[in-house]
Amino acid sequence: MLNWLNKRITEISALAVVMIMAVLLGSVAWQGSNAVFNQKAKPYVVVIDPGHGGYDPGAVAAQAVYEKEITLQVSRRLQALLSGDGVKAVLTRDEDEDYVSDGVSGRKNKKRSDLDYRINMAAGIQADIFVSLHVNAVAKGNNSGAETFYYNLSAEGKRLAEAIQNELIGIPGMNRRVAKPGDYYVVKNTKMPAVIVELGYLSNSAERNKLQREDYQEELAVAIARGIARYFDAR
Ligand SMILES: [Zn+2]
Repeated sequence: MLNWLNKRITEISALAVVMIMAVLLGSVAWQGSNAVFNQKAKPYVVVIDPGHGGYDPGAVAAQAVYEKEITLQVSRRLQALLSGDGVKAVLTRDEDEDYVSDGVSGRKNKKRSDLDYRINMAAGIQADIFVSLHVNAVAKGNNSGAETFYYNLSAEGKRLAEAIQNELIGIPGMNRRVAKPGDYYVVKNTKMPAVIVELGYLSNSAERNKLQREDYQEELAVAIARGIARYFDAR
């Protein structure tokens, strides 16, 4: 009986050691975005919009790489980082879906319907900012690198875009583009400061490979989270 008990105690303490080690390892692995949010009364609300989804794949590479999948993967990472920093981060979609209303037909109308739903969702939860993630592609040329766009009449949108783009160009190997105004429906029609982040080019083979890598997706998400933190800190 005593032997059995001793054995049991040894087992339990071994288990405890393993559990403590797991917790320690977990806390080393979890470094968050290192973004510092100086939140005053209430937490910031950030809407993260994974571009495209459902019927609309966005850009598609010949290798069956879909824009809608990469935007969702990076969006989830960004959501985790921001949530870890106490920000209320809401995704406009968390699966492969779209928001085209029943009965809407025609390419342009369907796109509008889908985007209007996302825009209204952000307004409904009184988001502080709207961050839409996309991936670029060009028919010709070897373009690469992330680009951030804002609505040209929004000074706050511009400030947000610049804060994010400044962090993105810090990623090793990233070319040094600047934030630009862009006449996009979603940044024009959101009530809060809004940006479109084009994470890179699917049409560039080296970048296409990187965009599918988990470590690179994490680097992008960390850079965007840091940009968002800088934007809020200066507000
Ligand atoms: Zn897109």
